[in-house]
Amino acid sequence: MLKDKVAVVTGAGSGIGRAVARKLAAAGARVVVSDIDEEGGHDTVAAIGAGGAEAVFFKADTSRPEDNDALVAEAVKRFGGLHVAVNNAGIGGPMAPVGEYPIEGWDKVIAVNLSGVFYGMRYQIPVMKRGGGSIVNMASILGQVGFRNSAAYVAAKHGVVGLTRNAAIEYARDNVRVNAVGPGFIKTPLIENLDADTLKALEGLHPIGRLGEADEVAELVLWLCSDKASFVTGSYYAVDGGYLAQ
Ligand code: NAD
Repeated sequence: MLKDKVAVVTGAGSGIGRAVARKLAAAGARVVVSDIDEEGGHDTVAAIGAGGAEAVFFKADTSRPEDNDALVAEAVKRFGGLHVAVNNAGIGGPMAPVGEYPIEGWDKVIAVNLSGVFYGMRYQIPVMKRGGGSIVNMASILGQVGFRNSAAYVAAKHGVVGLTRNAAIEYARDNVRVNAVGPGFIKTPLIENLDADTLKALEGLHPIGRLGEADEVAELVLWLCSDKASFVTGSYYAVDGGYLAQ
């Protein structure tokens, strides 16, 4: 499905990003696994290698423009181009109502979850314009609706959806497709520090009656990255067990 394609995945040292990197590699892509967490990143590369596919790790902080520039340069240097990018790195941030929200927490969440996606595309698109490509930006159900005490996250993810639409219409004629994926609550380290009662309550918010798995998100991302989604651009795709249908 992705033979001869080169992919970068940010936040690929854990959770959804790791599942995406593994799936893209299993589908034939050569993958640059990127994260600020070196250990997690190397574990992902090892898992991909154990499956007989090819990947390298590159440390990059998505909230730093120069790191995004260097990440794209690494893909081109190591594998000769860039065809697929999954801008997935993200953090949860503090929990508080807007009137009490910590300013530093706001700045950090916006820097990683929103500016990080912009910086990613800012450097990925000029390279992709040469031969076409597919970008998937990781939004959330919270890119469509609010969630108490999560203003920065909600604002950033809504921003990711808007940014995705804008990039999609600007580069559709260059054969660069840009889409956003919106997971419901997924069992990853991002939510694992929540207590059992909260997790149970979150399960109940999904009509399917459970939390999602990282692999279930990665399956959709793989499809969007592939040529099977050749007429799909500027879209937001939920993978949320029915959360948004209520
Ligand atoms: P996770 O915590 O398991 O993985 C996130 C990864 O991003 C980590 O490896 C972390 O080191 C990395 N990261 C954090 N800040 C970074 C930075 N500045 N630069 C580079 N890497 C950085 O979380 P996850 O659940 O796999 O989340 C992945 C994406 O999916 C995020 O954008 C998150 O907002 C989104 N998402 C998650 C859920 C969920 O319920 N888990 C739901 C909807 C959307």
